[in-house]
Amino acid sequence: NGTLYIVATPIGNLSDITAHAIDCLKTVAIIACEDTRTSGKLLNHFNIPTKTWAYHDHNAEVQTPKLIEVLQSGQSIALISDAGTPLISDPGFRLVRACHQAGIKVSPVVGASAAIAALSVAGLPSDKFYFYGFLPAKTAGRQSELTKIKDLTATLIFYEAPHRIVECIDDMITVLGDNRQVTFCREITKTFETIYPSTLGELKQFVASDTNQQKGEMVLVVAGASDLQNHDNQHDELLKRLLQDLSVKKAAQL
Ligand code: SAM
Repeated sequence: NGTLYIVATPIGNLSDITAHAIDCLKTVAIIACEDTRTSGKLLNHFNIPTKTWAYHDHNAEVQTPKLIEVLQSGQSIALISDAGTPLISDPGFRLVRACHQAGIKVSPVVGASAAIAALSVAGLPSDKFYFYGFLPAKTAGRQSELTKIKDLTATLIFYEAPHRIVECIDDMITVLGDNRQVTFCREITKTFETIYPSTLGELKQFVASDTNQQKGEMVLVVAGASDLQNHDNQHDELLKRLLQDLSVKKAAQL
């Protein structure tokens, strides 16, 4: 059998590809890629002549047995995605599982992933983290997913599309409160890289007031629900009830 290599490619700066990745992409029989045109640019840049096959969520069922057949004939294949590490909010899981089931070796050729790059500069606890990936596209779905994880103490990592960033921050404020710490990581390793640590409330201002911040690729690294924050929330609740009580009494006196 050949080997299936899971090859990470850059998330912006092309120099972030490894020598191992270039070597691997040059020597395999086929490169399976999400979008042959997008990957074509990368492969051209590094003079990699290997032929490409499309492999994405919509043809995974058809392509998986074909790729397995090639691997079983003794040839190796590399899987790449448009950017970063395949399978991380990208296709590939079915193919990897099928290889395991067929006794075909799967080997990672490691490199960039936006989630880990963002966590490494977020300045938030990094010992435990929960990678969510993309939240649902609509407010109701987003809020209900956020509600499920709002009490997790691990740092939360989200990917978000630029045209949904403002609404997404709004929903985070609704469910997690405007005081939660967050680090907004945009265009990592690219010319307009922005790393902006703030609270959710401040981030809303920052992004809403500058449309440039609503462009490109972005990761939100959100602080987990710390014990400290839970205490703060409890105090806030208590204070709110006392104030309500007071105003009721005051109204009664008037
Ligand atoms: N497999 C990729 C990885 O390992 O990071 C992620 C693929 S996912 C389809 C694309 C999302 O990753 C983008 O919408 C964005 O949230 C995030 N992303 C990718 N490149 C990025 C970059 N240079 N800066 C910030 N976020 C990035």
